[in-house]
Amino acid sequence: MIEEFVVYKRRRENFVFEKRGRPSDIKVGILMPMPYNAAVSSLFFQMAYTYVNSLEGVRAYRYVFNLEEKKVEALDERLDPRKLDLILLSLPFELDYVTAAYILTNLNLLRRLKGNEKPIVVAGGIAPTANPLPLSDIVDAVVIGEAEEILKNMIYGAGELNAFKVIEEISCVSMLANSDIRRKCFVEDLNNAPHPIHQFYSYDEEPIYGYGVRVEVSRGCPYLCAFCMESHVMYPFRYREFAILDRIIEKSIDVLKIPRVIFYSLSLFSVPNMDILLQKLLKQGIEISIPSMRVEHVTKERLELIKALGQKTLTIAPETLLPTYSCKIGKCYNVDYLIEVLNYAYKTGYSHVKLYLITGFPGTTMDEELKSFEKFSSSVKSIKKRGFVEVTLNPLIPKPWTPFQFLPPLSVLRSRHIEEQYRRIAKESGIGISALDVEWAFAQAIIALGDKNTSKLIIDWALSGLGLKGFRKALKMADERIRSYLKNGWQDPPWYRYVDIGVPKTYLDLRARYLKVL
Ligand code: SF4
Repeated sequence: MIEEFVVYKRRRENFVFEKRGRPSDIKVGILMPMPYNAAVSSLFFQMAYTYVNSLEGVRAYRYVFNLEEKKVEALDERLDPRKLDLILLSLPFELDYVTAAYILTNLNLLRRLKGNEKPIVVAGGIAPTANPLPLSDIVDAVVIGEAEEILKNMIYGAGELNAFKVIEEISCVSMLANSDIRRKCFVEDLNNAPHPIHQFYSYDEEPIYGYGVRVEVSRGCPYLCAFCMESHVMYPFRYREFAILDRIIEKSIDVLKIPRVIFYSLSLFSVPNMDILLQKLLKQGIEISIPSMRVEHVTKERLELIKALGQKTLTIAPETLLPTYSCKIGKCYNVDYLIEVLNYAYKTGYSHVKLYLITGFPGTTMDEELKSFEKFSSSVKSIKKRGFVEVTLNPLIPKPWTPFQFLPPLSVLRSRHIEEQYRRIAKESGIGISALDVEWAFAQAIIALGDKNTSKLIIDWALSGLGLKGFRKALKMADERIRSYLKNGWQDPPWYRYVDIGVPKTYLDLRARYLKVL
């Protein structure tokens, strides 16, 4: 029963829009297929709530998903989502599609069954921008790229009688049923893009990354590492200037009354004047939380500064310890320097340092990978605190619009047994290991590299439960067409015919050949 599937669960929040509605208002749902504490950390959620409510004759209704109870929670009103005109569905990661399919199935709003009936369900995010095809039977449309510039037209379009037609004509909205190539929309100058100041949170549920003011510093990344879909999809690199960031921080802290800034950026220290900004925050007594860093961006001065700004742990992303391979993927650094950095971080008083590593790059062997890890492990033995260095091991997951897109999803399973070997080596030197389960990584690759047929697999998975058991069952049911890309990968990826994100195919071919993918 839908009444039982959607529960009204208002939080004690610091800030909510009390907008007096009229029956004629366009009703826009913002649906996050994740728990409340994760959803509030999304700048899209924050931005969309403020922006939609700022429009005349429009009201926003927020919905999150309680994974334990498997229920949708309405945050603003007891409004059945089927009464909405438009649902904006945020899907940053591929595995979110399964939760979204589960939610929409339970609401009877799956594209496959609903057809051209309202509400119009529009998905957005990095993963759907790269490849909207696996969502074909699930949602009505996908925004390709950044939504800011088209959001207003889409919302008012949803209020029209011929809403589907109006939305279909918006330049970077892919309706999936048709086969036009859609060019990515992107904000040219981030300085002029709106940034949420009145950010909401619950007094009773601490958001992931903690309480604080969330500040989007940049989009894209200048490095274009070979495995990194975010940087390719969000290209080009853009950032907010010092004065703009300074103003956003000042205003947000004034409103939220929390002297802590959580920075959002793929490459924080690629942004000019970042050190000066951090020095300024230190003088003002403001704490910070920063995202993972490239090895060469970590300097002694920055280690001291970040520690003084209240951050107790660090995340560094070398991704490989193979010295001859790191430059090839865009992560040039010196392993000796990394060891120096770890020692200095220990001396400076950090509680631990997390290191991201990827296993299973093509053209490399497990043997050489383990040897380089062994060498690294014995070099950090001098750090006596067990678990100070914590490695997060991820299998290489091939993603669209990267040079690894031609690899088949089955390639992920190559890393099936490597984790135990890493653990064996790590044990002696006191390094902690956490690893992404290879089967989840495999499922992620299947969806990321999927085509329209993959939609059926996602729905079958959602109907069989959201765990790995459901995935195995859905995979067994998958037809031959899915099996062919599973094993062989794509020569001519199907997403090329639907989206143009601005990355030339010749670049991808050349880099794939260089990395021994093709
Ligand atoms: S530095 Fe990080 S965010 Fe930038 S391209 Fe490389 S992996 Fe992606």
